[in-house]
Amino acid sequence: MKQPTIAIIGAGAVGSTAAYALILKNIPAKIILIDINEKKCSGEIQDLIDARCITGSCALNSGAMHDAGNADIIIITAGIAQKPGQTRVELAKTNIEIVDSIIKTIKPIRKNSIIIIVTNPVDSITRHVQEVAGIERNRIFGSGTFLDTQRLRSFLAQRLKVAPQSVQADVLGEHGDSQLVNWSSAHIDGVPLSSFAQFNHHEFDEIALKTERKAYDIIACKGFTNFGIATCIATYCEIILADLKQVIPVSCYVERYDVCFSLPAVLGLQGVEEIIFPQLSDEEEKKLEESARILNQYYAEIKNH
Ligand code: NAD
Repeated sequence: MKQPTIAIIGAGAVGSTAAYALILKNIPAKIILIDINEKKCSGEIQDLIDARCITGSCALNSGAMHDAGNADIIIITAGIAQKPGQTRVELAKTNIEIVDSIIKTIKPIRKNSIIIIVTNPVDSITRHVQEVAGIERNRIFGSGTFLDTQRLRSFLAQRLKVAPQSVQADVLGEHGDSQLVNWSSAHIDGVPLSSFAQFNHHEFDEIALKTERKAYDIIACKGFTNFGIATCIATYCEIILADLKQVIPVSCYVERYDVCFSLPAVLGLQGVEEIIFPQLSDEEEKKLEESARILNQYYAEIKNH
């Protein structure tokens, strides 16, 4: 079978660490790393080839932007960080313009490619790319709250002294301030979290807030986040290429709310193959609707700016 190609556009902290995670995970694929800053990209590739030499996994190359449209998986991590004085909407507008120009350059995109958006604001950019890429929208998804979900599970696992993999609890909605935790369905091996005697509602709120703030906390210390998100990216690729049909929260188009945000989705070779609507309490349902409303308003502001 032909080796699949994964194109990573944006060889910054996230893109280059994603390539490294793919190498360490031994994903059988050829990686193409592309960046507008060719010198930096070349440095990252030379360094990554040293890692690849030891693991013997993925082949690795630099690539021209137009090569990406033919890749099996296209990962977009290109963007700029917020500048002093720049508003959230201005930053979003700039990053949408960057991603838009990338999509125009890599077109035509192979109909059976999968596009993974990582650039922030990820929900709005995912929605925009679904409108302009010219491939089915279920083949385009954003990294969404999969990373937030790992952070949540990790906090809960520390608290309950179990492995994070044994905790079933998801962050849903926006990858951002209006996200919510699906506490009512959260469980450990079928036992609802709410029935663990040591937990009270105050603590649930604290853990949800810590989860939401974790990216800010990391950025305050080191200026960016890369390891967690890169491992998420490598995991999406692993799930798609092996057609694992694993259910994870990613940012996808949800017709019910006419928005792109995160709900648990079946991920496979076709991209987002189905959305699994979670059981929510009335309060959680309201928070999810509010998250959709906020994102729709934000998207309209970006488009009209
Ligand atoms: P970075 O500044 O280190 O890297 C961005 C790269 O994009 C740079 O190398 C830059 O040269 C490149 N670039 C800019 N314009 C380009 C263009 N037109 N074509 C090709 N490359 C271009 O930033 P980073 O830390 O790697 O973060 C990248 C993006 O990922 C940001 O938007 C960040 O907010 C986002 N992010 C998202 C998540 C998530 O959970 N969704 C997590 C972490 C970071």
